[in-house]
Amino acid sequence: MPKVRINYGVNRKAKGGKIEHKNGRITLDIPDGVDPFAACGDKLEIVRDAIRERNPGWSITGYAEAPKKGIEHEVCTKDGGTKIITEYTRKKAILAMCTACMGYESDPIKECTSPMCPLFPFRGKTIAAYHSDKEDI
Ligand code: SF4
Repeated sequence: MPKVRINYGVNRKAKGGKIEHKNGRITLDIPDGVDPFAACGDKLEIVRDAIRERNPGWSITGYAEAPKKGIEHEVCTKDGGTKIITEYTRKKAILAMCTACMGYESDPIKECTSPMCPLFPFRGKTIAAYHSDKEDI
């Protein structure tokens, strides 16, 4: 069942007649073959029901598919296979590279011993690592 990320806006009348507005984002499981952005009918209700459920008492002002954060890319996995990542970003690419580099067994953040590697400063939660006495780098 494909997942769809949706940005939405809702509003309601507050005390004093003022209109309150807020935005949100939901991720929905959409049955195969269903277009959640179809112009009418039950398909549209899948999205509307989900927004109403999270925002009781609010009226829907609009919604649209959230822009994807990354691209689709295929990477190697620990078992020797491959896996397609649909929202592949630079950050995920670095983490995937470091994970593969460490043989999928060790933690690149704590156990990488190659500070001259170009990726070393970006191999994970490095800002926290640099500023924490608990991290062993
Ligand atoms: S930073 Fe360390 S774990 Fe990441 S690719 Fe370089 S050597 Fe490998």
